[in-house]
This record gives sequence, structure tokens and C-alpha cells, in this order.
Amino acid sequence: MSPAKRGDPPRDPAERKRGASATASAPRTRGRAARKDPSEQYRGIQREVDRADKQQEKKGEKKQGAAQTGVRKEPEPPLPKQHLEKPGIEADLQLRPNYMAPEYKGSGKLQDMVAIITGGDSGIGRAVAVLYAREGADVALVYLPSEDVDAQETREAVEREGRRCLLIPGDVSDYDFCEEAVERTVRELGKLDILVNNAAFQEHAQDIDQLTLEHFDRTIKTNLYGYFHMAKAAVPYLEQGSAIINTGSVTGLQGSPDLLDYAMTKGGIHAFTRSLSTNLIEKGIRVNAIAPGPVWTPLNPADQSPKDIVKFGSDVPMKRPAQPEELSPLYVFLASPVCSSYMTGEIVPMVGGYKGG
Ligand code: NAD
Repeated sequence: MSPAKRGDPPRDPAERKRGASATASAPRTRGRAARKDPSEQYRGIQREVDRADKQQEKKGEKKQGAAQTGVRKEPEPPLPKQHLEKPGIEADLQLRPNYMAPEYKGSGKLQDMVAIITGGDSGIGRAVAVLYAREGADVALVYLPSEDVDAQETREAVEREGRRCLLIPGDVSDYDFCEEAVERTVRELGKLDILVNNAAFQEHAQDIDQLTLEHFDRTIKTNLYGYFHMAKAAVPYLEQGSAIINTGSVTGLQGSPDLLDYAMTKGGIHAFTRSLSTNLIEKGIRVNAIAPGPVWTPLNPADQSPKDIVKFGSDVPMKRPAQPEELSPLYVFLASPVCSSYMTGEIVPMVGGYKGG
């Protein structure tokens, strides 16, 4: 008879019985061990953390500066105290926004494509125009006629990148104008591959009583009708591989008590993006949105009080607003079929971090 191996059942019935009772008592022992109160361990961990907190207190407050995560140091609050008259000319802004992305190297990601950028004269739109040109695209800029001084500067920057820039002043809330803008782009630049819907009206109102019907109507007409008008006018010219990019906002994700109308349009833009993406999927046209947090452009200095603008962007985890050049690479990524061909209907936040609970 071969010797019993470890793990074999005992052959002798008496032994088997002893073994069975031993096995029956084993879970009780294990159960007692598992039910051991971990409170002493909790207190040990707590003592460690309390000790670390005290040391931190002795060392003084945590570092207060803004996060610098890019290739060059970007401005941080306090920002210059100012209030711009609407619509907000970038040339008048103290502390000019950084839009050139000097370290960004083009590599033909949009080679010989044609883009329309609404609100392309200044701010985010201007930075997008420059990078699209650096990636090989010609651009048409749609903007308010009173912002011609900004549009001229953007045109010069695009031309320095070696591409053509068409200026089309007008109002995106007027459908006929949007149709003309698209037709003119196709006539003069040859075709249309990319639409960036980015023009906006933003003006706060602290109380719903102060939000007039005229104010509400202007916001909706610019931000929602404008995006719809431009998409409707552009789609007949877009082909497989084309892209639409809508600028949304963190306010469309989180709401904003002082921007009831504006936040409502931004939430609408996000829903429009997702819906239109499915609507156009069979044509091979992608539709995505970017939802920025605070960005240093004329939009907020032409809305907020001088007292508030000084600390603009300080309440996000990065403790500073983005500069337009920090957003524009994402607009390239979403426009380029080389980069994002499997992405559509996305709302991509760019908000300077998350606070957590
Ligand atoms: P901006 O003031 O530089 O750009 C807004 C542009 O919209 C202007 O160039 C203006 O010419 C154009 N515009 C306004 N009304 C128009 C109309 N009726 N017809 C044609 N053009 C019109 O500001 P920005 O910050 O670059 O804004 C770009 C986009 O970014 C907007 O959609 C805005 O809502 C969004 N956004 C901005 C921030 C921010 O903190 N700056 C944050 C979230 C989202």
C-alpha cells in the first residue's frame, strides 16, 4: 500500500472522523480571525496621517502658484484689471493672449484642406486658424464686422504660415449670411473640409429678473441659431473625411448661475454635437465638441467686472486660465482624419483639472 499523500482523505474510519471534526472546527478559527476588529489598525493609520499633517503645518502652507505644464510659462492671476466694451477687441486687451504655439511643429495633418472658423478673428478661433495653416490648410474667418482689426492680425499670422486666409465679416444669426459665407469660401478657396463653429455671445446676469428677453434672444440667436445655420449651410459641401468641431463650454456641463442663457446654449451645443454626429455618420462626416474651462481671450474681460477678471481662472485646479495656444492642438486633432477618424459625437473637456469631492 502506498503511503498516504498530503491532501488524501484518511483511510482509517476513526481517523477520518477525527479529521472531519478537526475540519469542522477549522472554519470557526478562521471565522474568529476574519472577524477581528481592525479599529486598532485604523487608529494607527490615523496617527501616521495626523503626524504628517502637523509636519506639513510646521513647513507652512502648500505651494500656492498656478500649475505650469506646458513648454513655456503661461500667465497666471493676478491678471490686469480691465473691462472691455463689447464685442471685445483682442488688440485692446492688456496682456495679449498667447496664440502662436511657437513650439508646435506642423506635419501636414490638414494638408490642402479648407476650413471655416467662426469667431476666427480672435481668442480661441485665432489660435486655431494659425495651427490649421501650419498644418497645411487654407482658412476662412467669420466674425463681427466691428472686429476687423483683430481679423487683419489673424490673416497676417495665417499668411506667415504660408496659407491663404479669407475674411468674411457678418452675423451668424442671419441664415442668408451663413449661406453666402460658405458659398464664398468654396468659390474662392475651392472647397470646404472643416467647419469650426466657435462664435459666441456671453454676458452675465446675476438674477433671472435682470436677464431681459432681448439679452436672452441675442445669446440664443448667436450661439444656437448661429451653429445650426453654419452647419446647415456647410453640410452640402462636406465630403467623406470632413469634420465639424463645435466649441462648447464647461458651463454646458456644470451649469452657471450667472450665465443662465449662455450655459443653456452650451448644453444645447453639446446635445447638437452628439445628435448631428449620428445624423452625418453615413456620410463619413465626423462631429465633435470641445468644452473649454477658463481661457484668456476678450470674451470674459468684455463680460466680467474688473475686480473679478483679476482672478480669472484661479478657481480651477491649475489656478490659471488656459491660453488659446493650449487649446488649438486639440482642434487640429479633431479636424484631422489622420488623428481622430474613429472619434465622433465626443464632447472633450479641457478645463484645467478636476477638484474632486
Ligand atoms: P472671442 O471673443 O475671442 O471670440 C468670440 C468671437 O465670436 C468673436 O471673435 C466675435 O467676432 C465672434 N462673434 C460674436 N458674435 C458673432 C456673430 N453674431 N456673428 C459672427 N461672429 C460673432 O472669445 P473666445 O473665448 O475665443 O470664444 C470662442 C468660443 O469659446 C466661444 O464659443 C466661447 O463661448 C467659447 N468658450 C470660451 C471660454 C473662455 O473662457 N474664453 C470658455 C469656454 C468656452
